[in-house]
Amino acid sequence: MENFPMFIDGAWVPPASGDAWLETVDPYRGTPWARIARGGAQDVDLAVKAASKALTRGAWPQMSATKRGHILRAIGDGIARNADRLAEIEARDNGKILSEMRGQMSSIPEYWYYDAGLADKIEGALPQVDKPDTLAMTVREPVGVVAALTSWNSPLMFVAMKCAPALAAGCTVVIKPSEFASVSTLEFCKIAKEAGLPDGVLNVVTGLGADVGAALVQHPLVDKVSFTGSDSTGRLIYKQAADSMKRVTMELGGKSPNIVFEDADLEAAAVGAVAGIFGAAGQMCTAGSRLLVQNSVRAAFTEKLIALSGAIRMGDPMASATNVGPIATPPQYQKVLDYIEIGKAEGANCILGGHPATVDGHTEGQFIAPTIFTDVTNDMRIAQEEVFGPLLSIIGFDTEEEAIEIGNDVIFGLAAGVWTGDLGRQIRVSRALRAGTIWVNTYRSYSPLMPIGGMKQSGLGREGGLAGIEDYLETKSILLSTAKGPTANPFLQQ
Ligand code: NAD
Repeated sequence: MENFPMFIDGAWVPPASGDAWLETVDPYRGTPWARIARGGAQDVDLAVKAASKALTRGAWPQMSATKRGHILRAIGDGIARNADRLAEIEARDNGKILSEMRGQMSSIPEYWYYDAGLADKIEGALPQVDKPDTLAMTVREPVGVVAALTSWNSPLMFVAMKCAPALAAGCTVVIKPSEFASVSTLEFCKIAKEAGLPDGVLNVVTGLGADVGAALVQHPLVDKVSFTGSDSTGRLIYKQAADSMKRVTMELGGKSPNIVFEDADLEAAAVGAVAGIFGAAGQMCTAGSRLLVQNSVRAAFTEKLIALSGAIRMGDPMASATNVGPIATPPQYQKVLDYIEIGKAEGANCILGGHPATVDGHTEGQFIAPTIFTDVTNDMRIAQEEVFGPLLSIIGFDTEEEAIEIGNDVIFGLAAGVWTGDLGRQIRVSRALRAGTIWVNTYRSYSPLMPIGGMKQSGLGREGGLAGIEDYLETKSILLSTAKGPTANPFLQQ
């Protein structure tokens, strides 16, 4: 089994504590396939100091923004050249199907190209201040050293969404990938180095969240924390970051309502609903896990869902015939099974699945059958709490107002879907829902040009689009006196 060391200050380094490694496991086979370094506070300190030095000294701060853009573009090209290999690594690490990881990998370069283009278009302003003999200007500066903490479900997508704008802004970065899927992020460092990124500008420290993540968030030389993960970890990190007033971007979980009105194209809505919850075995932050269906069509619509969901092929993530792979990690697998029991105990009606699935004849694969609950009320835990698995809760409604009220009655606000043929309703409901992204007659449609992020407890800040780079910039005001002669002394009596 190959050992993957960490990437600090342009070099490949083993853990400072000695020979400490964590196994990274293929969730389909249930067997380890590589080892990653189990880093600790000492490694974090080295990486942050390297990033801090690279921020203020050497090639990076002296480089023109245009040249920074060229390097980001070369990183995008490098990912495109290595896309197949990187997609295979991610599918092996997180169990998502290879075709989905390939699809992601083909769009990731576009995120890098987008921010490459922005690098030399970051502009200040010349406000016309109400002071004579004064030239006032604002300049945009990098926020500083960024700690980027990512989850396992789409590792290099999160690296792109955080690091591309951070580097375009002139920041330096220390990445802490998920301990369940770190290898693609380490491989990515080779691409970044080849593309000409100076040493120390990008560093990766691997290990456990409680060790590496916590040390990184609390390091005094880190200026900003950009986090993608669960709301519980996000809350903890937000509090720790507050101690030294670190800037934060938080991309957290959701309990997104996918709302189907009776006047929708019901065939399209059913496909959107099933893909929106059972794709990636439900392990999507934007999963449409609460399906709100107008009561007049609820029974017929539920039949369509059962037919579509029953045909989903679970299996080897690497096989082209597979639609859905296993649950990525043992704790996540157990969590989903627990929520199935919670739903049953709460009195919801489990009409499909509701149990582990044996796939390809082996039981170790952490598969869970697509599970649908009906007769769910919005106050149940399976309607309020993020499961991050293939569990759909169907809730009925009668009126548009009721759909909006139920849709918003949750602590999260990451995304929502609206299925209706009525243009006025498409706009009314989109505006009334409190979520960072609304999809109308589609679901899970992304673009590097569009910001994503959460309202309410789904997060803070935005990633992607023009808004994405704002989170990595500070605004500095500079006022220059253009007066002739000595400055008036305010302490002299006139
Ligand atoms: P997680 O919160 O368990 O871990 C995320 C990262 O934080 C990992 O790198 C982990 O090692 C680290 N971490 C864990 N404990 C820490 C601590 N005490 N201090 C510092 N770092 C710590 O989340 P996960 O299981 O990897 O990911 C699944 C979650 O991520 C889901 O809730 C999902 O909704 C969310 N998510 C959100 C988005 C989004 O864009 N909003 C995207 C993907 C996933």
